Amino acid sequence: MIGNGFSKGIAIIGATGAVGRAALWVCETYADRFPVVALAAQSNVEAMEQLVVKFRPKLAALTEPKAGRRLSEKLFGTSVSVASGADALLDVVRHPEVEHVVFASSGTMAIPALQETLRLKKEASLANKESIVVAGPWVMPLIDHPLQLRPVDSEHNAVWQALMGEMGHEREKTAPSTRIDRVYLTASGGPFRSFSSEELRRVTPEMALKHPVWAMGAKITIDSATLMNKGIELLEAMSLFDLDAAQVSALIHPGSKAHAIVRFRDGCSKMLLSAPDMRIPAAIAMSWPIRLPLAEETALPCFDMENSFELRFEPPDTKRFPCLALAQETARRGGAFPTLLVGADEIAVEAFLAHRIAFPDIAGVVARVLDSWHDGAPSSLEDALSVLQEGRRRAAIACRSCN
Ligand code: NDP
Ligand code: MG
Repeated sequence: MIGNGFSKGIAIIGATGAVGRAALWVCETYADRFPVVALAAQSNVEAMEQLVVKFRPKLAALTEPKAGRRLSEKLFGTSVSVASGADALLDVVRHPEVEHVVFASSGTMAIPALQETLRLKKEASLANKESIVVAGPWVMPLIDHPLQLRPVDSEHNAVWQALMGEMGHEREKTAPSTRIDRVYLTASGGPFRSFSSEELRRVTPEMALKHPVWAMGAKITIDSATLMNKGIELLEAMSLFDLDAAQVSALIHPGSKAHAIVRFRDGCSKMLLSAPDMRIPAAIAMSWPIRLPLAEETALPCFDMENSFELRFEPPDTKRFPCLALAQETARRGGAFPTLLVGADEIAVEAFLAHRIAFPDIAGVVARVLDSWHDGAPSSLEDALSVLQEGRRRAAIACRSCN
């Protein structure tokens, strides 16, 4: 056991997913430090029941009401309370024993719970990138101090670590964006990095779901193959670290050892190296400012610095991977465009997974939705959620005209 003892009650939203399981691994490995108080997901009753049996939380939540009722029946007579429906995630973050909430759900349902966590001055570890891209202007001002919102997305976690010691985080509320020249986020390049445009037309969902480095949910795996994931991550970095479009870039780094590079105004850069495993950024976000002895005490991969390794970076090819260029365009245009991109991409990826559109059509659908927008920027979170919905609606129409 290590010194600096701490223990904090944990809630995990999206507990049945890939990142949720990475966070649960941290809870299981360091059970004294991270007691599991509440678990939430959408509708997977069986997976939630198994997690409840294993982790014995005080509260289990499923946002889908029918699934919530089934879970209630299954857990009847146990000490575990069940929440379901629209406000279930608020019940989770408000639970008096919850001190730290891990946001590992996909989609945007968790935005009000994220706001409530920050208002209650509890800590949040955030993987859920869509939420921060859509709701950044209505989430970031609620942060009480820079250690309250901890990025879990590996690249953003790397930037956040690089900024430690730069932000005077004990005193200042804001990120040190004025010290930063540029933030580079790395991408493995996905399974089709060397495919020609012709080969990309023949990519099937089955091929795209096999990512060479990371094991992730289906949506983000497809986004990694189109490089839309890196584009959304540039938008995420702008929100989290208060950067403008000229301060964020993507770099292809097939080795996935370096996750981000922060170049400061004086020309010095900090780079973060670690094995590509989501359990590492999850553990760092949950335990900071303590660094858990993961390398000594667990079987997590840890690459050996004394074994020679190559660090190769190259610029992304936005001609073959136009999704990245579209996201960069929305970064420059701001307003409603990043949110429209998120909504349109969600529907286009769904259509691709259902074999209704081809791989390159994902970019085509998103481009058409962005071109069709002539209205202004959202002025409230409700407006932003309407823009998201409109992006989805227009993308569904655009998908129907692909052949
Ligand atoms: P998965 O598809 O594996 O899991 C999604 C999780 O979210 C499931 O637990 C699902 O519950 C839950 N969920 C979905 N909708 C809701 C809802 N309305 N209310 C409550 N819970 C909901 O996704 P990932 O784990 O891959 O990704 C999760 C998030 O983290 C995404 O935003 C992704 O972009 C981001 N991310 C993922 C990384 C990765 O390596 N996978 C890396 C960095 C960021 P159920 O099972 O019941 O459907
Ligand atoms: Mg990432």
